[in-house]
Amino acid sequence: MRTDPSNTMSARGLKPITVLAANRDHGDRLRYAAGCRCDDCRRANTAYERARNVARKAGDWNGIVPAARARQHLIQLSRKGVGRRAVQECTDIADSILSAIKSEKRKQIRARTERLILAVTPDQKSGNVRTSAADTWKLINKLLAKGYTKTQIAHGIGAESHALQVGKKKVTVRNAHKVSKFFAKCEAREFSDAARKKLEQPLPAGTYSPKPGVLIHRMGDE
Ligand SMILES: [Zn+2]
Repeated sequence: MRTDPSNTMSARGLKPITVLAANRDHGDRLRYAAGCRCDDCRRANTAYERARNVARKAGDWNGIVPAARARQHLIQLSRKGVGRRAVQECTDIADSILSAIKSEKRKQIRARTERLILAVTPDQKSGNVRTSAADTWKLINKLLAKGYTKTQIAHGIGAESHALQVGKKKVTVRNAHKVSKFFAKCEAREFSDAARKKLEQPLPAGTYSPKPGVLIHRMGDE
């Protein structure tokens, strides 16, 4: 099936090829694409195709590709705790573009953009990518305020040493993820400890409690 180039171009949100070509002199690839087969336009098109093949062979082809593969990869990364911000740090792709890919607002992207996104892996690259430590330090400071020591936190995130290796400004994505998991665990533990303490509190004289939260006065005890 032949695809009309003007259709695929407008599907990308570009002007139809005939409109673009109208302003070009002969000897321009766009005029060839719009249908001109004069010597100059043929030559321009051959040169373009040749350059494109060279780039493609060198792995640096930067044509338009569907965004689906990049989107799937972003979803998988975020399931493994590598969020958009980490991908942004790793690839230098604008957050607005990553967000548009993820929400399917952007259906086509440049091949180079796709390559950069697909190169991000949770275990190798992005785990060691450094991101802002601000949120991580908020959590650590809350834990310190509650009386946890830095050594306890270091062990809590599975560090080999006693030292808490979180930089003041930057933290690896992997450690940021571990700190937030440890924080959640501590919160859950404190919550159940507090609930237990409440249960263990002595009941006022002359009462009994058939179940938590219910206090019944004994008859005739006082
Ligand atoms: Zn021509």
